[in-house]
Amino acid sequence: MSRKNIVIAGGGFAGVSALRRFGKHKHLIGRDFDLILIDKKPYFEFLPMLPDVIGGWMTPELLRCGLADLAKRSGADFLNEKIQKLDPGNRIIKTDRREIDYEYAVLATGSETDFYGSTDLAGSCLKLDNVDDAIAIKNTILAKAESSPETNVFIIGGGYTGVEIATNADLLLKEGKYKYRICIVEKSDEILMMIPRWMRVSVKRELAKLGIEVTCGDSIKEYDGSEAVFGSDKRIGNAVCIWAAGVRTPRFMADPEFTKKRTRVVVDEDLSPRNAPYKNIFMAGDNACFTDGNSGKDLRMAVMFSMGEGKTAADNIAYNVRGKHLVGYAPVDLGYLVPMAHRKAPGMVLGIRVGGVLGYIMHYFMCAYRSVWRNKTGILKELVLKFMKKGGTNGQKQFD
Ligand SMILES: Cc1cc2nc3c(=O)[nH]c(=O)nc-3n(C[C@H](O)[C@H](O)[C@H](O)COP(=O)(O)OP(=O)(O)OC[C@H]3O[C@@H](n4cnc5c(N)ncnc54)[C@H](O)[C@@H]3O)c2cc1C
Repeated sequence: MSRKNIVIAGGGFAGVSALRRFGKHKHLIGRDFDLILIDKKPYFEFLPMLPDVIGGWMTPELLRCGLADLAKRSGADFLNEKIQKLDPGNRIIKTDRREIDYEYAVLATGSETDFYGSTDLAGSCLKLDNVDDAIAIKNTILAKAESSPETNVFIIGGGYTGVEIATNADLLLKEGKYKYRICIVEKSDEILMMIPRWMRVSVKRELAKLGIEVTCGDSIKEYDGSEAVFGSDKRIGNAVCIWAAGVRTPRFMADPEFTKKRTRVVVDEDLSPRNAPYKNIFMAGDNACFTDGNSGKDLRMAVMFSMGEGKTAADNIAYNVRGKHLVGYAPVDLGYLVPMAHRKAPGMVLGIRVGGVLGYIMHYFMCAYRSVWRNKTGILKELVLKFMKKGGTNGQKQFD
């Protein structure tokens, strides 16, 4: 009898956690099932440190790890292909190269920048979804700084990512002694609406100290790669515009049987898609919307939840195969921080308020801890170097 496929769609935090977890269920893989990992990128990428690439002190390669190697170590095959269609009724995933049938699937394709339908802005603004995007932002800012008397960096969207990009752009330009202006442009009345007021006040105070402007109640209307036109009709030249105003799940996740909250697929405790007739699919990571039974709140998009969900999804596939009861995902929220490039990070850790350098160290401790084994030493080395130097670090004028 030929073996059936278990497919993991997406090799990010959730997908790689599921992949590794299948190592605990060795009896399944190779005997009754083939395990296949699919990702459009050849690498796993460590997204929380992307802003540090913009800041010019983190070597981009340290944030990557080849997925083919990771897959091989777990007895899986890796397909570097882009998923274009999901047909859960017929248990088929269609990529840009083939159709793959599956018996079970972990859907873990994360989220990507949402331009809310504006193809013009999608074509002209920069975004931050992956390592290549971070390198492009850094290089575009530097090229503009080299060629203009004053560079205007606009970050559209005042969430965590917007703040991190702004402070890292500041680090990069300060180090190069360029004349510049950085502004976070937020459509609503406040930046960082999702965090407590005291934390917001702390972030705004730090931004003000750095001279980073915050404009609320405005958004970008047009951008041609140089001049930015805002909703308020303000026009500013020599501009670099970076869009950080929202994310969505990939478009192939459009099955009508999926219940969605905005674009995320709502899941039950066992991570199967709620109200959908697909008991062989488990969702993990940013593309899943899981409501914490204790707090009644939907989990935010974060590494710790993605990794935990990846493990539970793999376990539930193994239990399903063996006819055992499925387990519920039990999230543990360790907290969150808003890391800013000048070594300040207000946040809550284990329910306790932290801030300043302590929060910053905690953020990078977690980053180093969660990064893949062979990159840990390099990341730690770069962190130590950053701490030893005042301000920025390496030769930012180097174009990658
Ligand atoms: C700039 C930035 C900073 C962040 N900082 C933090 C932080 O400090 N702390 C924290 O907890 N979280 C942070 N996050 C969020 C965190 O990175 C995400 O919650 C986490 O990456 C989600 O994991 P995932 O596996 O669901 O998705 P991802 O890690 O995004 O992985 C999804 C994978 O699916 C693949 N994929 C997508 N579409 C397709 C397709 N059509 N075909 C094939 N493959 C596809 C992608 O290539 C990717 O490899 C940050 C995110 C960003 C962008």
